[in-house]
Amino acid sequence: MAETRVVSVRPLGALDGSEGYEVQTECSTSLLGRPRRRFTAKNVIFSAGVMGTVRLLFQCREAGHLPNLSTQLGRYVDVYKRQPANG
Ligand SMILES: Cc1cc2nc3c(=O)[nH]c(=O)nc-3n(C[C@H](O)[C@H](O)[C@H](O)COP(=O)(O)OP(=O)(O)OC[C@H]3O[C@@H](n4cnc5c(N)ncnc54)[C@H](O)[C@@H]3O)c2cc1C
Repeated sequence: MAETRVVSVRPLGALDGSEGYEVQTECSTSLLGRPRRRFTAKNVIFSAGVMGTVRLLFQCREAGHLPNLSTQLGRYVDVYKRQPANG
């Protein structure tokens, strides 16, 4: 959805997600306030790119919404290293 940022994903009921998830979003472009919306889904696929997904997962873990996320989260994120122009 355009101009929409996911700010929270949390299980509905059981922590294992067997009862689905609640997804909270906010408008990513609003200058005055950031109205939130709430969606529910049976399953959620994180596809916010490398940095967006890791950031969101950290937010969810730190807020206690996805407490079972591994402590290894973010440890092996890498980025392309610049290659010298001459090889
Ligand atoms: C400089 C550069 C050059 C590249 N060149 C090539 C190439 O030539 N050929 C090739 O095959 N690949 C190339 N790639 C790799 C390619 O861009 C990625 O593999 C591909 O875009 C990954 O797609 P994605 O959908 O997983 O993530 P992205 O394309 O990164 O899409 C993630 C989207 O999620 C959004 N998002 C982030 N956080 C949130 C949030 N909390 N809520 C909602 N939305 C969010 C972002 O705004 C973004 O629109 C290149 C990458 C870079 C950085």
